Amino acid sequence: MKIRFDEINDDGLILVFSGTEDVVSDALRSAKLPLGASVASVVKGEIRVEATDDGVRIQGTVVARVDLECSRCLTRYESDRPVTLDFVVHRVSDEAKAMDKALLEAQPNELVVVGNELDLGDLIVQEVLLDLPMQPLCTQECQGLCARCGAIKGSPECACSEEKSLDPRWEKLAGLASKS
Ligand SMILES: [Zn+2]
Ligand SMILES: [Zn+2]
Repeated sequence: MKIRFDEINDDGLILVFSGTEDVVSDALRSAKLPLGASVASVVKGEIRVEATDDGVRIQGTVVARVDLECSRCLTRYESDRPVTLDFVVHRVSDEAKAMDKALLEAQPNELVVVGNELDLGDLIVQEVLLDLPMQPLCTQECQGLCARCGAIKGSPECACSEEKSLDPRWEKLAGLASKS
């Protein structure tokens, strides 16, 4: 989803996303998603765009729906991830300003855009990607796959789960037995 600078007047702009309009699918096409992750094209939230002297300020929070693979049990699960945007965007007219661009972009949350358009979808996708967990977990308690039967530990499919209720007094014995 693109914003045209010349359409932002002094009143600014408030973009409200209800979770039905496609905001990021263009940006997703060129994004490098981690293996096993996918991002829905719709987001929910509100973004305020204000005109500044040389561009716009973008502030708001959107929730993106991400589909991830649990790093322990490999189950796919959906996760709603809120990301907060707070960017000052400087608009420059041509690439000759590459010098300024490098200087400005060294600041966190400052961006330089050449031309009349800013891809808001890109900004959102970048923030979502930064926020993705390195080791996704379907739940914090996920016990992963059972080494014995390959099913998810603690699930009805794993018949080995009675092990967990083993009397603690027997655990030492069991440990000794497996060592021999
Ligand atoms: Zn899991
Ligand atoms: Zn099992």
